[in-house]
Amino acid sequence: MTDPAQRLAPVYRDMPLTVFEHMSGLARDLGAINLGQGFPDDPPHPALLNALAHATAEKSHQYPPMAGLPELRRAIARFYARTQHLAIAPEGVIVTSGATEAIAAAILGVVSPGDEVLLFAPAYDAYAPMIRRAGGVPVFIPLRPPHWGYDRTAIDAAITPRTRALVLNDPLNPTGTLASPADLAMLAQVCTAHDLIAICDEVWENVRFDGNPHASLLAQPGMAARTVKIGSAGKIFGVTGWKVGWLIAAPEMAAVLARAHQFLTFTTPPMLQWAVAAGLDQPAIAQACSDRWAQTRSALLEGLSREGFAVLDSAATWFACIDLAASGIPLDDRTFAEQAVREARVASIPLSALWEGPDAPRHIVRLCHCKPEALLEQAITQLARWRDSIG
Ligand code: GLN
Repeated sequence: MTDPAQRLAPVYRDMPLTVFEHMSGLARDLGAINLGQGFPDDPPHPALLNALAHATAEKSHQYPPMAGLPELRRAIARFYARTQHLAIAPEGVIVTSGATEAIAAAILGVVSPGDEVLLFAPAYDAYAPMIRRAGGVPVFIPLRPPHWGYDRTAIDAAITPRTRALVLNDPLNPTGTLASPADLAMLAQVCTAHDLIAICDEVWENVRFDGNPHASLLAQPGMAARTVKIGSAGKIFGVTGWKVGWLIAAPEMAAVLARAHQFLTFTTPPMLQWAVAAGLDQPAIAQACSDRWAQTRSALLEGLSREGFAVLDSAATWFACIDLAASGIPLDDRTFAEQAVREARVASIPLSALWEGPDAPRHIVRLCHCKPEALLEQAITQLARWRDSIG
């Protein structure tokens, strides 16, 4: 008899844990400051907690509708009308258990065996394994530091008759950079010219620091009918453990994607959906969150610069990146991350963990800034002392 565990799908037997789980596990075990996986330390906004307490006491605890509470689907449509001037039909909104589930449902709903899907590297680590599990082939197009710009020539060269979709993560995790208006226009032209579906992971849409509102690829000419837009209450309100996300598509497309969603988590805890609906209707809550993260971003960038670390621009997300080579640190990113968590007691994310293929930049690590300033200062001090000790 073989070991029954050997009968499990080889793709998962041989797959490492996600870098986020790996680094958070090390941080917990070693008592390190966790600037790896992205999550805020601050408690949720009191108005959001009140809404949750009210919903927990007053509302049903049984299965809500599979596509989400109608009240939340309408609140999401209102939120996008207000913040991005998008006309979203509530029937086109499907509530999911976090954006990761929305990504899974979108990929399962779009990709058939043999389909190719364009991904831009660095890429969030959930995309490629899901595409492969759906029988598709991820095709990576590298973005290059320090600006991580989109290259039309490289995109055109990657497209074949089998290309079905592209995945755009904008703002981009892990770099904190934005697609420019020209990039969005170009990507829309590519999608319409080649009849591609755009799966747009826009979970960082409300974590932007440049004062400009987010602009979705969905708003470009011809894109409303071929875009799946993914959002996250966890990112908007800094409540990552709530796992409330959504996908948005033209209603005819959403109806098909709902078939994929119905056999994943089927539905999402109703009290969390009620609380998110209430939160989205109170603009001051999301504003307070992004104002707070603008402060923590400045604290991390200024502290790192003061200590002589070379940091890359971060216009969005909870993250900022250190250029190790430019900082005079003679380690590749994975070695840095593994040693820094043990020796400096600070967890980080090596950028090459979010990059498939041989041409990954190996000199960049990502740090999460949405932490109390005193903790950021402590982490920066520990990193600087350790760097001096190895230099
Ligand atoms: N989005 C989070 C990050 O980039 C990680 C989420 C997860 O751990 N699955 O840090």
